Amino acid sequence: MNPAAAEHGIFADHPGGNIVVERREGSCLWLAPDLRHMQAGCQWFYWSFRAHNENPLTVVFSHRNYISAHGPAMSRDGGATWKWLGRENVRQREIGEHGVELAFDLPPVRPGEDVRYAFCPQYQESHLRSWLRRHEDHPFLSVSEFCRSRGGRSVEQIRIGDACGTRKILWLTARHHSCEAMAGYALEGMLEAALADDATGRRLRENFTMVAMPFMDKDGVEEGDQGKLRHPHDHNRDYNATPLFPEVAAAMRYGRENKDAITAFLDLHCPMVHGPWDNRFYLVGSPLPAVAARQDAFMKAFAESRTGAIAPHEGGILHFGEAWNTADNFSAGKSATLWAEETFPDAGVIASFEVPYANADGMKVTPESARSLGRDLAVALLACPSP
Ligand SMILES: [Zn+2]
Repeated sequence: MNPAAAEHGIFADHPGGNIVVERREGSCLWLAPDLRHMQAGCQWFYWSFRAHNENPLTVVFSHRNYISAHGPAMSRDGGATWKWLGRENVRQREIGEHGVELAFDLPPVRPGEDVRYAFCPQYQESHLRSWLRRHEDHPFLSVSEFCRSRGGRSVEQIRIGDACGTRKILWLTARHHSCEAMAGYALEGMLEAALADDATGRRLRENFTMVAMPFMDKDGVEEGDQGKLRHPHDHNRDYNATPLFPEVAAAMRYGRENKDAITAFLDLHCPMVHGPWDNRFYLVGSPLPAVAARQDAFMKAFAESRTGAIAPHEGGILHFGEAWNTADNFSAGKSATLWAEETFPDAGVIASFEVPYANADGMKVTPESARSLGRDLAVALLACPSP
């Protein structure tokens, strides 16, 4: 964090914190995302700060439109729960040919209050811990250490399944790009579906073991990095002969050891902010025809069984060769799903998904609706063909 932020009552020393104060004019504070550890010249949009301003402030983000379709996210309970502030509370001003400035007001914060603002609702280790506490007596849930991150943090592996017998594995990952917090809520919804005392939960547990690594870039999540386009390449371009990151090395080892049991590999992501595909929920289509056919079957099952508010965009697939999903996008290194397609050629479904941050074809994305989306994905896995 830029240490100058503290003198304005803006802090980023909490888990996931990220902000730079560019300048101040009166009660107006110009802020920007901290792009530390990114590849040179790259931009991204994640930010998160605690406000302790005694007097009213207006914060301004310039350069680019870094505010979602539902405005910034706000928490009044130290980051535990979040709501969207609403785009109606954001003032937009055009500056120059391509630039915009977006401003919103920070009312004074009373002593003792912990008010936070962020690009989107946060999902940190503390959220996973409180979810685990809520289910700590569940007989089919266990958590273990998958590996240690470069920064020495414990990286969690969640397992849901009947302890006896061999089971086909539904393998879930998220946060290869650390800033993509809404993916964490969707993943939580998938885990919740597998724990539920209902027909879906029982069928999932009877037929599969669900294994999840919610934080594939644990240091980035806790330190508030963008994660995307990390220097020299990010975690989702690290599935190479010699991976740089312990989480990826552990995943590649886990994959090799459980090769024949992997029935599904789903990697959850979030897209960008305002591009044509950034306000849609979709699956990123594979270049391999056999994998693409199984992805198509999965999305059909998803569309048929879905009960949550978030629907897939049209057919739900951004096919390989369209928009950003081209070979050029993977020149920096192999992604998790490209690696999985080669490693588990017979798996029932291998895919990465883009869970939009705020808006999915007009439906508001919130922690609750993202969890419901996760539940719908878990239900669709029941239709998954076995290898
Ligand atoms: Zn991503």
